[in-house]
Order: sequence, then C-alpha cells, then structure tokens
Amino acid sequence: MKTVGMLGGMSWESTLTYYQAINRGVQEALGALHSAKIILVSVDFEEIEKCQRKGDWEKTAAVLSRSAQQAEAGGADFLVLCTNTMHKVVPEIEASISIPVLHIVDATAEQLKQDGIKQVGLLGTRFTMEQAFYKERLKNFFDVEVMLPLQDQRELVHRVIYEELCLGELKECSRKHYLEIIETLYTRGAEAVILGCTEIALLVKQSQTSVPLYDTTTIHAASAVEWALKGINRTSGLA
Ligand code: GLU
Repeated sequence: MKTVGMLGGMSWESTLTYYQAINRGVQEALGALHSAKIILVSVDFEEIEKCQRKGDWEKTAAVLSRSAQQAEAGGADFLVLCTNTMHKVVPEIEASISIPVLHIVDATAEQLKQDGIKQVGLLGTRFTMEQAFYKERLKNFFDVEVMLPLQDQRELVHRVIYEELCLGELKECSRKHYLEIIETLYTRGAEAVILGCTEIALLVKQSQTSVPLYDTTTIHAASAVEWALKGINRTSGLA
C-alpha cells in the first residue's frame, strides 16, 4: 500500500472528512483491521485565508510547497491537497517536490466523463468559480463546460464557505439558499453540479435534491484510495 500525503487544514472541518473517507475506503477494500497509511501536514488556515484575501498567491504557494516537502520527507508517495481553491498553486507545489499530486479537478472530471456529463454547474469559493485555473482545466483537458451561479449567488456561496462552513457552522437558511442555487443552475441547463469546495457536502446532501451532485471531497478521497491500493494513475485526459 502506498502512503497518502494529505495537505489539510483548509479547513480542518473537511480534512476530517478526507481522513475518515480514505481510511474507510482502504478498510472496505482490504477488510480486517486495515487502514490507510497517511502523512498529514495541516496548515493554519488563518494564514492562508489572509493571503487569499490580499491576492498574495505567491505566499500561499510558498507555505504549501514547504508543507508538501514535509509530507514527501515523511514518506508520502503522492500528495492530496484537501481543498479546491488552493489547487490554483498546484504548478508551484509540483515544482517543489518529486512525488505526484492527485489533482482534484482530474479526479472529478474523470467521474463526469464516465457519466457523460458535458455541461456542469460549479459551486465553490469566489476564486474557484471565477478564476481560470479550475474551469479551464475542465474545459481544456476534459471538454466539460462550466456554468456559474449569478453574481449575487456567487457572493452568497463564497460568504457561507468562509463565515460558516469553515467554522463548522451548518445553518438551515444557508442550506436552503444553496439548494435554490443548485436548482437554478439545473434550470439554466447544467446537467449536474460540482460541489467544488470541500466543505459544501457538510451542508448539502444528494438526498436533498434531484439534481446530480459531484462532491469533490468524496471523489478526491476515493481516488486517493485507488492510488494507494492500485498504484498511481495519472489521468488519461492529460496526455
Ligand atoms: N475548502 C475550500 C475549498 O475546497 C475552501 C477553503 C480554501 O480556500 O482553501 O476550496
């Protein structure tokens, strides 16, 4: 079994979900008392969030590259960055280590492709929804078109992530808003919606809507289990 290197703490609320899902996945696959081999490096999210707000991505890249190096030095065979947003600096992280990064967009896109989804709604932080790094990867490598919530809806989704979900607060009114936004995306033509922030599935569940949801945390964690047990498999979409 390979050792998973997890970069967590962004926020730790969803790192907990990853830790549990990866261990459960290994236990289900191997039975008995098996559990995952994991090196977890968890950062102080306040430091990262301040940089995000200032647009100081260089500093986030430096902090996360250092953490990635710690994971590699600790014996990780590959890296799982437990956040969608910080995949923005994956190129810098990759350049600082010699182990591969299991990219959250690739894992999710593989799933979308398998299910024949070509047009998908995206919920996430403002950075994930509005900047190029996420939607262009989906479009350019996997031919999946991204549809965004409207401006005021994007602001709400972003605010709830930082002011509630990353603090472990799950509010009924926010759940209602999120479900409405998901429905609107579906009505506008999205065949499914990506929960492109690792905390969203804490709030919104598939059982609460008939719109197909792609939870990046669950998908990413399941891919980590695959890589740990079956070997590292760089996505076919990335020639
Ligand atoms: N966990 C979130 C994500 O998946 C947001 C926190 C962050 O900015 O990293 O994007």
